[in-house]
Amino acid sequence: MKVILSYGLGVDSTAILVRWLTALISRTFNLKDLIVVIAQTGDEHLETGYLVEKYVFPLLRKHGIRTIQVARASNSQRDGIVILDDTTAPTICYIQGAYRLSDEMVEVATVPQTGGIRKCSLKAKGWPLDVLIAQLTGGEEFVHVVGFETDELTRMMRDMPLGLPGRIPYYPLIEWGWDRAECERYLWEQFMVKWPKSACVFCPYALASVAGLARTLPRYVASPYEAFKALTMEYLAVAANPRQGLIGGRQLYDALLDVEGGPALLADFQEHLNCMPWAIYDVRRAFRAKSDDMMKAANAARSMTMVAHGDRWDMVDLLDYMANHHAPRAWRYDTGRHHRVWIHERNLYYPCPEQAFVTAPALATDKTNKTFAEAWEAALKGPSQLSVV
Ligand code: SF4
Repeated sequence: MKVILSYGLGVDSTAILVRWLTALISRTFNLKDLIVVIAQTGDEHLETGYLVEKYVFPLLRKHGIRTIQVARASNSQRDGIVILDDTTAPTICYIQGAYRLSDEMVEVATVPQTGGIRKCSLKAKGWPLDVLIAQLTGGEEFVHVVGFETDELTRMMRDMPLGLPGRIPYYPLIEWGWDRAECERYLWEQFMVKWPKSACVFCPYALASVAGLARTLPRYVASPYEAFKALTMEYLAVAANPRQGLIGGRQLYDALLDVEGGPALLADFQEHLNCMPWAIYDVRRAFRAKSDDMMKAANAARSMTMVAHGDRWDMVDLLDYMANHHAPRAWRYDTGRHHRVWIHERNLYYPCPEQAFVTAPALATDKTNKTFAEAWEAALKGPSQLSVV
């Protein structure tokens, strides 16, 4: 029977793999049955890719383990997956992926959302792996190895009934009684390396706790390239919607102001922004009311359209001109971190419209929800359209 390890490149699954490849006593199957599968989101930390190439791939090569790296071809499942590598002698960890999660986020000016299921992970990791594993197993029984550790029993219980036909889930770390600290200690003993947490460089879950922030913010200061990727995504998302942010609605930008090296990094980030193409976007949101409470928004349909493009200061000048010479008194002009002219601001009651012209890096593509036109019309009319009996 095939033994398929979903290798997430992080501490837990690296500990399993390294132990299996170095300690015969740790496994009950023949290594020729093992296949290592890796889903690349396209946005993993460079450090992780480097360590995998330096310490893990040589072991996989030594034992001739089939290692397959896979990614999404586009944001549509119709386009399928891309096999980045399929070899028994892996050398390159293709962390750049194919269609990157960051491409998807930036195109629509948003950030991965926390709360509920990890939609981004299901799309960028779970789905390509399922497609690949279905191709590998053809519906036959297989052992699917997942790196949950002893502090993740709830995740294990949720995972057990899921997955493809023929899947027999197996959680070696839980069988061994290993928690994360034990995995870290083991990898330290093996390589004298503090193995980092694997994640996209902008992962909001990595920033969701005090410990996560303490671990992740210094990584940004040490790696401006990765910081700029996360900050650019957030900057654009906040331009489109001031309530966004990578730290549960708070901004990574603000968190970096308070860490050593953060202000200098942010000054460099502003220079980075200056070198990008910019645009003015017309961003509209049509909020619907909750059916039983007109003071609560149900959801919103959005339209985002580029109305001008140029360099950053041309766009700011143009918006200044619009705000100072053409704006009715009711329009409000924000000139803080983002330059934004509010045409309609969110109301206390729903439905209601929200509209602003805002300057931002010209990275988002025009997109209007299918239901926008109808929702916008209703939003402009406001709650008065509700019949009061
Ligand atoms: S690492 Fe974070 S951002 Fe990336 S796919 Fe997983 S949950 Fe989403």
